[in-house]
Amino acid sequence: MNPSAYAWIDHSLAALQRAHRHRSPQEIEGRAGPTLQRQGQTLVNFLSNDYLGLAGDPRLAAAAIAAIHSHGTGSTGSRLLSGHRPLHRQLEQAIAALKGTEDAIVFSSGYLANLSTLGALVGAPDLVLADQYNHASLKAGAKVSGATSLDYDHNHMTQLEDYLKTHRHHHRRCLIATDSVFSMDGDLCPLQAILTLAESYDAMVLIDEAHGTGVFGPTGAGVVEHLGHRGYPLVHMGTLSKALGSLGGYVAGSASLIDFLRNRASGWIYTTGLSPADTAAALAALEIVAQEPQRRQRLWHHVSYLNRELDRVLAGLPVQRLPSASPIICLGYPSARAVLAARHHLENLGLAVAAIRPPTVPSSRLRLTLMATHQQDHLNHLVQGLAQVIVDGAESNSG
Ligand SMILES: *Cc1c(COP(=O)(O)O)cnc(C)c1O
Repeated sequence: MNPSAYAWIDHSLAALQRAHRHRSPQEIEGRAGPTLQRQGQTLVNFLSNDYLGLAGDPRLAAAAIAAIHSHGTGSTGSRLLSGHRPLHRQLEQAIAALKGTEDAIVFSSGYLANLSTLGALVGAPDLVLADQYNHASLKAGAKVSGATSLDYDHNHMTQLEDYLKTHRHHHRRCLIATDSVFSMDGDLCPLQAILTLAESYDAMVLIDEAHGTGVFGPTGAGVVEHLGHRGYPLVHMGTLSKALGSLGGYVAGSASLIDFLRNRASGWIYTTGLSPADTAAALAALEIVAQEPQRRQRLWHHVSYLNRELDRVLAGLPVQRLPSASPIICLGYPSARAVLAARHHLENLGLAVAAIRPPTVPSSRLRLTLMATHQQDHLNHLVQGLAQVIVDGAESNSG
């Protein structure tokens, strides 16, 4: 082995360090919940995708443990060989019932679901039109599919229409791909306009409900339900790892779409079936989503309370809330340095929030996510902490 063949890795890491873009994970101790322990400090958790507080729910843990006792820890093979269990079908049927579709298919992660679904639905002769703010897994899927892929400006429907007008007729199939809730902004896609365009230009639509499922809609089915488009022919994609507190991804849609994916999605065919524990935990979560709408109500109550309080305390201050329609709430900052200082200051006050910076997003922001299991005290603590940090930040900038 010639070690110099690997020397570029250290050079590349050093470049990341110099650009202040090197990142490493921080250990979090204890069970998932509205507070977290880090290096012995307890912080209120505004970092989590566990919107309904189910990842630490004892009922999910009990379902996972029971599944391990009856089936073991591993699925032992791909679903088409030895890895298919009755639990998998129960979960797929429960997802289809929630989404109001004929069928569903479960993948080992949401990332893999997007990668393999795009890879199966489109190829070199085809066109993918995608929102520029889509999740990385949709971008990766468009790339590996080999299709021509064009990003339209965020939620920019006239640009999407221009692309359809100019390019659609040069391609065999067309797929419009969009997040339903944009994960780094918290706003929603204009689904009605997308569906109208898709119909006029004979395009398929894939909607990624990673942050919508369990959170939006009267039954928690997602943004498609919330906006009144249940029953429209769509490729519904989502993950079991956010509001559903488990691990895995899914696609829901027509029986033929799902049958096609079982035959053509290589990230489903050539990978081991979802583990019995993850499958059973997600199934238990779907039951709770159906039976405890009060969790969603409490989450939305928190969202409107926090937005109202933030607008009140931030009035006249240099930091403002970005447009959002979800439990993902962002505060815009002028620079990466300012947002990192704010995060650090908030951490000292016992508040864990995310500082999201370019190149992940075009402009720096603090990102907060709410959970149904936050207490009123947690929200008050956050509002007071933010007011203090933003006032101090403004004074140190002007002084
Ligand atoms: C988290 C996320 C995914 C990936 O899901 P995993 O199950 O975590 O792999 C896909 N799309 C969006 C929009 C996401 O936020």
